[in-house]
Amino acid sequence: MNEQLKTNEKDHLIFGGIDTIELAKKYGTPLYVYDVEKIRQNARAFVNQFNKLGVKAQVAYASKAFSSVAMLQVAKQEGLSLDVVSQGELYTALKADFPVEKIHLHGNNKSIDELRMAIENKIGCIVIDNFHEIKLLEQLLNEHDHQIDVLIRVTPGIEAHTHDYILTGNEDSKFGFDIASGQAEEAFNLIIKSKRMHLKGLHCHIGSQIFETDGFILAVQRLYSLMNEWKIKYQFNPEVLNVGGGFGIRYTSDDQPLPLSHYVTALVEEINTQANKYQMDFPEIWIEPGRAIVGNAGITLYEVGSKKEIPNVRNYISVDGGMTDNIRPALYDAKYDAVIANKVNAPKTYQGSIAGKCCESGDMLIWDLRLPEIEAGDILAMFSTGAYGYSMASHYNRFAKPAVVFIENGIDKLVVKRETYQDVSRYDLSYE
Ligand SMILES: *Cc1c(COP(=O)(O)O)cnc(C)c1O
Repeated sequence: MNEQLKTNEKDHLIFGGIDTIELAKKYGTPLYVYDVEKIRQNARAFVNQFNKLGVKAQVAYASKAFSSVAMLQVAKQEGLSLDVVSQGELYTALKADFPVEKIHLHGNNKSIDELRMAIENKIGCIVIDNFHEIKLLEQLLNEHDHQIDVLIRVTPGIEAHTHDYILTGNEDSKFGFDIASGQAEEAFNLIIKSKRMHLKGLHCHIGSQIFETDGFILAVQRLYSLMNEWKIKYQFNPEVLNVGGGFGIRYTSDDQPLPLSHYVTALVEEINTQANKYQMDFPEIWIEPGRAIVGNAGITLYEVGSKKEIPNVRNYISVDGGMTDNIRPALYDAKYDAVIANKVNAPKTYQGSIAGKCCESGDMLIWDLRLPEIEAGDILAMFSTGAYGYSMASHYNRFAKPAVVFIENGIDKLVVKRETYQDVSRYDLSYE
């Protein structure tokens, strides 16, 4: 963490203005805690920059990063749009009373039920991913006598990662229509013939945890050269260009993300250049940040339990959660930073690796972390766990999912209840 940590006179970590040790006592551990002001700041960084540049835009929160009624209410209050990928995510959005016209449905295998639910609830846009979906959607729209705005998701042959990108030509991805092989054009031709689907423009999503703007710029260039072909052949003039999400955040001091407004500026400049070059109207720009809205706004509090010290090898410090509340380290070797929240500024004279309590050797949260002298009952605060933590939580080992607390204006509020072990087995039926 580069940001200065706030502590009180007891050397306890203060988060969102509240003593984290008090939060751990009040709600138990593991506990996800969000600073709602930070969520709002992140959302506004994108929205305000588009406004400042005078560009019509939709900032669609990718709700898979963290979906709950309270979170979607905050997104709604900030005027964001919303990406959903399933009936569950759509249902949560409806429960949060999210404006339906601002909901976009994604997915590489949208089911009939998902599409029907989207149509019946009159959501704003469907991002079309494949030929099977075009057929299903046309059929359902006919049955419902309904029309809907759509984007075509294309794979521009650019894979962007943290610090670099790969030009792949044909992208090896399960998502979207390939450009190079002509699939995107075939989809275009099917969709513009439809009286039910209104093609608004194109969508692409090039990766996640991206720290540079080059990948986005290349994607915009690639999309424009395609759209120019369609303009010449079919007089196509896109109203919307959706360049996806993937904006990087800081997990550890090794990560140096750009200010969020820089991505917006770079995108607007490149889209302006390309639109001028090909003499097309400047489109409405849509982006889909998930991680960048909630990632650094959340922390997880754990209680330290057992310790295993292997001389000259490693010290293992076990906490009361793990891969069931944050699978990212086990799944993609994701790095995190953490402190002992009840002794933040104590000298770091010890080194330990933070282990989860699941029956998996791979259930490690952080390797070789500098720590103060540590003992059972200490509270570990792990930073930047706001994205893909709760949303990827599982019941492995029949663990109950932790609670989620929001903090704003110095007030903490429970927004997702902690599950009980009875909850975990509530759908089990007897076989005796
Ligand atoms: C996952 C995803 C996002 C959000 O990605 P982040 O890295 O969380 O910003 C946006 N759009 C699409 C299509 C995605 O699949």
